[in-house]
Amino acid sequence: MKELFDVAVIGAGMAGVIAARDLSEKGYEVVLLEARDRIGGRTYMDDACGTVLELGGAYVHWTQPHIWRELQRLGITVNAPMQEGSSYWLADGAVHSGTSEDFYGRVAPLLERLFADSRARFPMPFDPTALDNTEIEKESIEDRINSLNLSAYERDVLEAALSGVVHSYKDHGIAQLLHAVATYFGNFSAFLETAGTWSIQGGTKRLVNGMMDETTAKLLLSTPVDSISDEGSQVTIGTRDGQKIHARTTIVALPINTIGDMHITPALPHVAQSMIARKNPTLAGKLWIRVRGLVEPFTICAPAGKYPLNAVRTEMYLDGDTLVLCMCSDDSAIRGEDRFGVQAALRKFIPGIEVVDIAYHSWVGDEFSKGGWMMNRPGCFTTGAVVLRQPHGNIHFAGSDISASEAGSIEGALSSGAQAARDVSIKLAKRRPKP
Ligand SMILES: Cc1cc2nc3c(=O)[nH]c(=O)nc-3n(C[C@H](O)[C@H](O)[C@H](O)COP(=O)(O)OP(=O)(O)OC[C@H]3O[C@@H](n4cnc5c(N)ncnc54)[C@H](O)[C@@H]3O)c2cc1C
Repeated sequence: MKELFDVAVIGAGMAGVIAARDLSEKGYEVVLLEARDRIGGRTYMDDACGTVLELGGAYVHWTQPHIWRELQRLGITVNAPMQEGSSYWLADGAVHSGTSEDFYGRVAPLLERLFADSRARFPMPFDPTALDNTEIEKESIEDRINSLNLSAYERDVLEAALSGVVHSYKDHGIAQLLHAVATYFGNFSAFLETAGTWSIQGGTKRLVNGMMDETTAKLLLSTPVDSISDEGSQVTIGTRDGQKIHARTTIVALPINTIGDMHITPALPHVAQSMIARKNPTLAGKLWIRVRGLVEPFTICAPAGKYPLNAVRTEMYLDGDTLVLCMCSDDSAIRGEDRFGVQAALRKFIPGIEVVDIAYHSWVGDEFSKGGWMMNRPGCFTTGAVVLRQPHGNIHFAGSDISASEAGSIEGALSSGAQAARDVSIKLAKRRPKP
């Protein structure tokens, strides 16, 4: 093992891989330390339901600058979504149905009220701290919905429309969502399109492998890190199997829910420690369902916490069957093998539908993620995340969970990883001896 690397990047998700790629392109010697036996982190493709499916993050958009640059650089395009069909929604205890226009016609005025101040709160989304949002940071999504004084039906329709991204109205702060909507001109539907419609041709694996192919970083898989110590002139990284790796600087590109497992010296500022201790509360999951036959396209929306399946839609046809994608607000309500339970839950909306297979990865149960996509708790988005974006001596942090742009997404991971690489590069360039 080399004695002293320029940079040790910890975590080979999208954030860590782009950071390692960008720094090695600049000529720095980089080691990339990854706990799992694969790269990609919370993006992950595997054999499932008779094909290869995205079991984690998947959807991207041409409006996302870092994603789009990487896809273009690698010559990759995106897959168009399946056409929309019938809509079913669960509200005030009953199943309702209509076209997708019928559903969005009902929900659009409610969404407008919910996000009315998004652009005023975050007028420059590229700088989430441009205004003081202390008051907004106290509000949960539940508080905001309560303030709208909705009927039971309206409330369920609104919560059902949010349920593809929000899984606990009580635990999630409104600030991150206001920021996401402000990024897309105050329009929730536009934000939702970027978050869950267009998938990568060849998948996320093709993207992350493409970026990895461009790096000269030394990749160490199956190497969980458990300590990081900044000793002033260098950082020493300890691994679970007792290795010590030395580097001038480090980029910690880990999910917020696993940073707490790490012994970091010197201790982080209190506000950062508090965010890490309070965790990413998203305990949701993504389920694939293979149903028999070519089913007419449909979507189902149900409020999080009120039904086991929350945002459901037909995704593609496969060998005479239909693949259906489903976001579930409560990971613990899903049994990866409970085909008949899933079938019963779907039949509430579509009687007679027949489930032949299901596939699921528990990101909550996975020790190297311990949760789903990032949704900040009240009081974190413009405080703890901001502090974690600042260098802590020679220790820098990156990742979608602390990103200033599109937190909780692949774009957020890439943007944050690229920013950390720029910060580290500037720091190392200053230390290079002058010719
Ligand atoms: C089910 C699901 C669906 C999603 N859908 C979308 C979507 O459609 N579109 C979208 O944009 N985003 C989506 N996301 C979010 C997106 O996938 C993530 O925000 C993004 O991939 C996170 O990238 P990251 O590099 O910041 O973190 P991660 O991908 O979590 O990478 C962190 C890496 O650190 C490693 N690690 C953890 N602990 C250690 C340790 N102790 N030592 C060494 N390495 C360690 C992990 O193994 C991992 O490889 C989804 C996420 C989930 C879970």
